[in-house]
Amino acid sequence: MVLDLKIYNTLARSKEKFKPLGPGKIKFYQCGPTVYWTQHIGNMRAVVCADFIIRTLKYLGYDIKFVRNYTDVGHLTSDEDEGEDKMEKAAKREKLSPREIAEKYIKIYENDTRALNIIEPSEKPKASEHIQEMIEMIEILMDKEYAYKTDLAVYFDVSKAKDYTKLSKQTLEEMSVGAGKGEVADAEKRDPADFALWFFRKGKHEKALQYWPSPWGDGFPGWHIECSAMAKKYLGATMDIHMGGVEHISIHHTNEIAQSESANNAPLANYWIHNEHLVVDGRKMAKSEGTGYSLEEIKEKNFSPVALRYFFTQAHYRSKQNFTWEAMESARNGLKHLYNQVRILHLDTGCPSGHPVSVNEEYKNKFIEKISDDFNIPQALAVAQELLKADLPDKDKLATILDFDKVFGLKLADAMAFAEAPKEVVELAKKREAMRKENKWAEADIVREQIKNLGYEIEDAGKGYVLKKI
Ligand code: AMP
Ligand code: ZN
Repeated sequence: MVLDLKIYNTLARSKEKFKPLGPGKIKFYQCGPTVYWTQHIGNMRAVVCADFIIRTLKYLGYDIKFVRNYTDVGHLTSDEDEGEDKMEKAAKREKLSPREIAEKYIKIYENDTRALNIIEPSEKPKASEHIQEMIEMIEILMDKEYAYKTDLAVYFDVSKAKDYTKLSKQTLEEMSVGAGKGEVADAEKRDPADFALWFFRKGKHEKALQYWPSPWGDGFPGWHIECSAMAKKYLGATMDIHMGGVEHISIHHTNEIAQSESANNAPLANYWIHNEHLVVDGRKMAKSEGTGYSLEEIKEKNFSPVALRYFFTQAHYRSKQNFTWEAMESARNGLKHLYNQVRILHLDTGCPSGHPVSVNEEYKNKFIEKISDDFNIPQALAVAQELLKADLPDKDKLATILDFDKVFGLKLADAMAFAEAPKEVVELAKKREAMRKENKWAEADIVREQIKNLGYEIEDAGKGYVLKKI
């Protein structure tokens, strides 16, 4: 079935038919983490939402070049020009160098994303390794007079950008008022909404630990120019899809657009996708609120990373999702139930893992309809649940659900592998099942004990049973 993929484009504030730039790979960029702390599961929601999207694009047959950066310099404690560099703050806190901080937190992040079954990006550029590309872009902006220099920094002049607020839909006055809220650090800044492309190692950044030479003086890049320069290096002037959290619309992405489009004379991205936040009691999950649970804390409470992933299937990426421990409990149960259903289908069909038979076309079409409608994962999961209840041959159901799992990424095939108990155990389980059908309960219990002695627990589930290793 050929269906149009529809994507909600923040630029248009509406769903649009997806038209790739060209016949080659889809160019996709996601703003990556600032690696100064263990990312909480709110950050992880952003990563999982992007993963559902990447997997959907792959499922629909697109080839993708996926870039997600690491910010390891230049992101100040506000998203604007005020505050301390997050990396240096962490370096002081932990008595490590910024580089050691980056290494430490990239490692944790990569372990966590692996545990969440996230597809690896094609490129994972670090900002600190692309300073030259940033300088080159700032040089173009200076030459074209989009940028100016003060004693403390090189700034982008927002009044020069064409349609500066096209993404945020705010007026420039609203943005300037917002930008003027913090400490005004530089009296020479022409407009409070102008933003730094390059900070000098001067004033409050006098003791900056990470700095590089530049044509304008020693210093370090602003956060926004990092994404613009890395995106250009790996994806060219224009990409298909740029993704990030909703809070990036008014500052970070607005500024990325201004810099890149002024320097390159081309649109930065044709589609802008923004994911909503994970919230706790109606407020964004955040470390500063004391609600930023890490994946480690989730695991300590006996929830698997895949159960967290299942929890994330429950809300559309453009909706806020409320985190509660009760919701995690039901996600764990939901996933367990799904695993049990897959195990039973597998046992009933006896089909070896990795060799599913035939995918049911009707359900596949329903599934494609949902994922093609702005990546509607919750509704796609509902189709999967409908499939499991449908009156279809077990082997087709199994093949179909495993096919859908290419998008969900819930490791359903692992459930089957788990069911692959030794032949001896499976024979006993079948024998016991036959006894139960004849109401020979006492004999069935004896066989259950024999199975236990071989290291397996038998659990009755639905119309079959599940074998679990003890
Ligand atoms: P940071 O390391 O603070 O730059 O954040 C990394 C990413 O996590 C950003 O893209 C944010 O949009 C995202 N993020 C932060 N908090 C949340 C949250 N509570 N829910 C969803 N995404 C979040
Ligand atoms: Zn970015």
